[in-house]
Amino acid sequence: MPRTKFIAGNWKLNLTVEDGVALVQGLAKVVKPGVEVAVCPTALALYPVAQAAKGSAVGVGAQNAYWEEKGAFTGEISASLIKNAGAKYVILGHSERRQYFGETDATVNKRLKAVLAQGLVPIVCVGETLQERQGGQLQAVLKRQVEGAIAGFTPDQLKTLVIAYEPVWAIGTGVVATTAQAQEAHAFVRGLLRASLGGLADSLRLQYGGSVKPDNAKELLGQPDIDGALVGGAALKLADFSAIVAAAG
Ligand code: PEP
Repeated sequence: MPRTKFIAGNWKLNLTVEDGVALVQGLAKVVKPGVEVAVCPTALALYPVAQAAKGSAVGVGAQNAYWEEKGAFTGEISASLIKNAGAKYVILGHSERRQYFGETDATVNKRLKAVLAQGLVPIVCVGETLQERQGGQLQAVLKRQVEGAIAGFTPDQLKTLVIAYEPVWAIGTGVVATTAQAQEAHAFVRGLLRASLGGLADSLRLQYGGSVKPDNAKELLGQPDIDGALVGGAALKLADFSAIVAAAG
């Protein structure tokens, strides 16, 4: 089954509400149906950016979601509020969350449950550090992260799952994995998904993330198991992000 390419921009802690709205308005003018495209602004900008993207081919996503729906959880946002703000996607388990905010495979699993319960599309991030790669731990780390995230779910529940393979050493560093390294890791992740979820693995999208730029996007996206990209720095510039989307078309 052909997999629609999916390019998502992770704006991280960048862009004011006004700048985010202007960027999505610019994108909405150039993105054509055929490639799935999303931008993930800060929580503060979710609603205005979703409003600005309405009716266009650009979807909107959050960068995280708490597992409880509401209550005394100061500072958190829930999947139901994300949906209410007009978003469709949620990034989970980004390496910056794992590194700076104590995210674990167990908490990713809890967040995934809440996100799927709201009918949102999860983008679950996995990937090894340089030390883990050099120590021969690549496959063990990916196995732990993928299996930890999807533990307890049936294939039917995971039909919309997107996994982003993001080697931590390639995020925001300008160092991109070689196409061979990226394809090899993606094929391994798809194999893990096949072992857990059977044939569904062939229809799930796997994004590559880590210094994706207009000049390397086409080659990465041409690999058999790379179905899209999760883009950080280059997603903040209309020309760069549009060029990456065009490379997927
Ligand atoms: C990311 O944050 O997911 C990412 C891949 O960032 P960058 O493209 O800047 O490396």
